[in-house]
Amino acid sequence: MAEPVFQRLALIGIGLIGSSVARIARQRGDLAAEVVANARSQATLDRVRELGIADRTEIDPARAVEGADCVMLCAPVGAYAALAEVIAPHLAPGCVLTDVGSTKQSVIRDVGPLVPAGAHFVPGHPLAGTEHSGPDAGFPELFQGRWTLLTPPPGTDADAVERVAELWRRCGSMVDVMEPGHHDRVLAIVSHLPHLIAFTICSTADDLEGESRQQVLRFAASGFRDFTRIAGSDPVMWRDIFLNNREALLEMLARFTEDAQAMARAVRWGDGAYIEQSVERGRKIRRSLIELKQA
Ligand code: NAP
Repeated sequence: MAEPVFQRLALIGIGLIGSSVARIARQRGDLAAEVVANARSQATLDRVRELGIADRTEIDPARAVEGADCVMLCAPVGAYAALAEVIAPHLAPGCVLTDVGSTKQSVIRDVGPLVPAGAHFVPGHPLAGTEHSGPDAGFPELFQGRWTLLTPPPGTDADAVERVAELWRRCGSMVDVMEPGHHDRVLAIVSHLPHLIAFTICSTADDLEGESRQQVLRFAASGFRDFTRIAGSDPVMWRDIFLNNREALLEMLARFTEDAQAMARAVRWGDGAYIEQSVERGRKIRRSLIELKQA
């Protein structure tokens, strides 16, 4: 077995993502010699103990990070500022502070200024997930063949970046480094806008009256069902993502709205060629995803 990348890894938040990392650490033994889990509620930590996926649990985030050479924030991004405030004074010299949050400019804005001199800040985002939450939702194959994007601020210690990258490679992930603004724009189109559309279409269906509403559920298999899967995600997590990637999300939504209007116009005026061309572009994207093994 290879040397562990870190001696003590503290996971602040241990839901779907944190518990998947913990499970991999347990299974492989070479992510970290010791894993400490922190959550907001004792109930979650009790469950983590039952599952046996951490060496130690700590309800106090300040105590959880003490002596850790890697701290990974795995809570909703809206909780980061308050968490960083609590843990920052307790980070060990040389500690690598990283995260898994779905937005990156906001994390750098909220956490960056609080990182003490001598600690290294390497923001990250594994592009892997499901609509389920909590420590029972995690599984060790979650990151297999998926990308993890790191967005270290300029001048970040190269060794710290490499160690975080190595941790993710050992989780089965492919790793790339990206500028945070670029990350947020890309994620706005590939993840945040699709979720916004899914939540909205479910609300639209829910607003229908009586019989039509019942028929929606009865005949959901025709396409609606695929939207309901992503619409089944955690409300707090998605509230935080939308509010913390406001600019990019609104920009992509404006572009989408224009394109949807163009499609509406084609439908109204019977422009079959436009409709066909649009569907064909969709199929091409689907085929490319399958070829890239990201489908
Ligand atoms: P999750 O399953 O809901 O777990 C969240 C964890 O954070 C729980 O342990 C929770 O503790 C803790 N927590 C929640 N609010 C907190 C607060 N205010 N202060 C301290 N701890 C708090 O969430 P997740 O799906 O793992 O997502 C975690 C992060 O990963 C988010 O930033 C998200 O943007 C990012 N991410 C998610 C996905 C995805 O598909 N789910 C994919 C990539 C990245 P309790 O259990 O005690 O409440």
